[in-house]
Amino acid sequence: MLDADVKMQRICVLGSTGSIGVSTLDVIARHPDRYRIFALTAHSQVHKLAQQCEQFKPEIVVVGTASAANELYALLREKKLKTEIAFGAEALCDVARSSSCDVVMAAIVGAAGLPASMAAAKAGKKVLLANKEALVMSGQLFIDAIQQSGATLLPIDSEHNAIFQCLPRPYSRRPAEHGISKIILTASGGPFLNRDISSLDKVTPDEAVAHPNWVMGKKISVDSATMMNKGLEVIEAHWLFATPAEQIEVLIHPQSVIHSMVSYHDGSVLAQLGNPDMRTPIAFGLAYPERIESGVAPLDLTKIMQLNFQTADFKRFPCLALAYAALKEGKSAATILNASNEVAVQAFLDGKIGFRMIDQIIARVMNRSVMSEVLDMDAILECDKEARALANEIIAA
Ligand code: NAD
Ligand code: MG
Repeated sequence: MLDADVKMQRICVLGSTGSIGVSTLDVIARHPDRYRIFALTAHSQVHKLAQQCEQFKPEIVVVGTASAANELYALLREKKLKTEIAFGAEALCDVARSSSCDVVMAAIVGAAGLPASMAAAKAGKKVLLANKEALVMSGQLFIDAIQQSGATLLPIDSEHNAIFQCLPRPYSRRPAEHGISKIILTASGGPFLNRDISSLDKVTPDEAVAHPNWVMGKKISVDSATMMNKGLEVIEAHWLFATPAEQIEVLIHPQSVIHSMVSYHDGSVLAQLGNPDMRTPIAFGLAYPERIESGVAPLDLTKIMQLNFQTADFKRFPCLALAYAALKEGKSAATILNASNEVAVQAFLDGKIGFRMIDQIIARVMNRSVMSEVLDMDAILECDKEARALANEIIAA
């Protein structure tokens, strides 16, 4: 009994009602001997959160607002659950840094996830990072926080998880020392890979979120359709693996079976393959350095039969070019790119702008912004706020 207690990992799932959150709980439910839920958090889906409380019995749950907390309180009382309830951004940081938890799954979408992800990084947790926007916005500051606290950072984004698996261990963060020539990020190309470019103006939010291979939240699905998702992932790879932009290549691979590759100077290319199911990288992160069952079906290459590849067309996907430019520019460019993208994607989902306006709005915000050094969290959050205001102003004009 004592042994089991020592090994039991206490988990905080930030964003438990989302696509990654639900997949995380699915893996955790398969291993009650290894994982216990300390905290669950959700913005507003209180019914789903109440069901998760019933199944996983967390000590504490965090929601976005006081009214969501009241609603949840009533639901939990009906279920005779006495889970502690908190609300608001500071409460998210508190659970992420709590001494009662060992592992934080950072699966809130967008900039809203940065403060809590950073709190987990500073508190030395094992941080399972799905929330790529947090790293894109904060870059070096996030990596510094991880290194200074002794936290373990494990990428959950499938491409970065694949790269992590294909890198030598220990990895020195100096690619040349390991004979690495480049990182190859694979990309499905999303729903509009082969669509006539002139018709992209008219695509609807429903068409944009219908990803061919992955079922994901709306924001990342639109990002996949514009390929800003891959652009954010190029920046994410730069920070995770200390690789310069010139050594990160995007390769279109419509089947999403090869999740990414690492190319070495001797001509070897190491790849990680699997069915497109996020439970594989999630299980990898939870159990690392061990391997556990994830519920993912075994890969059957005889059924897939073909793996295709093509180069990424920067004219079809201008967001990809914008992201590379932001990475090369440095300073606050990636924070501004991310903020303007979030505003433009939401405006598209709300029917306020057309699909092709997304990249145009980001480009205009980038052009009109003065890039500055962002040396602390306040500077990043201020920069995020200003870029959002500018994007909203451009949309309203
Ligand atoms: P989602 O929209 O399905 O879920 C988002 C979660 O964040 C929900 O639980 C929601 O309650 C919470 N949330 C939203 N706004 C919030 C706010 N303001 N404050 C607090 N919580 C808030 O998103 P998802 O698809 O699960 O993606 C989550 C993150 O993981 C994103 O950063 C995404 O880029 C990344 N990711 C997702 C996938 C995937 O397959 N879904 C793959 C790779 C990376
Ligand atoms: Mg990805």
